Amino acid sequence: MPTIFSHAIFASAVGKVYAPKPMPLRFWVLTATCAMLPDVDAIGFAFGVPYDSMLGHRGLTHSIAFALLVGFVVGMFAFGKPPAGFGRLQLTLYFTLITLSHPLLDAFTNGGLGVALFAPFSAQRYFFPWRPIEVSPIGMRFFSVRGLEVLGSEIVWVWLPALLIYLATKMYRRLTPANNT
Ligand SMILES: [Zn+2]
Repeated sequence: MPTIFSHAIFASAVGKVYAPKPMPLRFWVLTATCAMLPDVDAIGFAFGVPYDSMLGHRGLTHSIAFALLVGFVVGMFAFGKPPAGFGRLQLTLYFTLITLSHPLLDAFTNGGLGVALFAPFSAQRYFFPWRPIEVSPIGMRFFSVRGLEVLGSEIVWVWLPALLIYLATKMYRRLTPANNT
């Protein structure tokens, strides 16, 4: 995985694109949470779940099916009243995309196993052909020289693109104020 913070940062940039108006805090907290959620499967290591099993790390929780489920639950039930300008379907689609952004970013990392995008129907693990992001060590090993290398690689390959997306969106909205209403 890129570190969970990087998942949240990237997702916030996507949120900025998707939501033209200021959004309630709940929207952003859920954005960060959904982006980090797939890595709950790392708990499995403590219980001896094999990495390559369906319930192992980057297994079921890194699938399209999981993203759809999370998107649906959040879209339908997390907001008493959807934020202005949003319907339930839009919210569902958005939180599906945000959750899915996690395994897609993972698929750009250069280590570990790939993501089981089509779980539970297939246990096949996938990577993109191009994998520039240094894979993050799991757990406490993060606080090490290796951890710093990972952070550097994530700043270049995740934070910077996120910042560019954010700035491009801001600039686009400024140039086309009609979109802002
Ligand atoms: Zn992950």
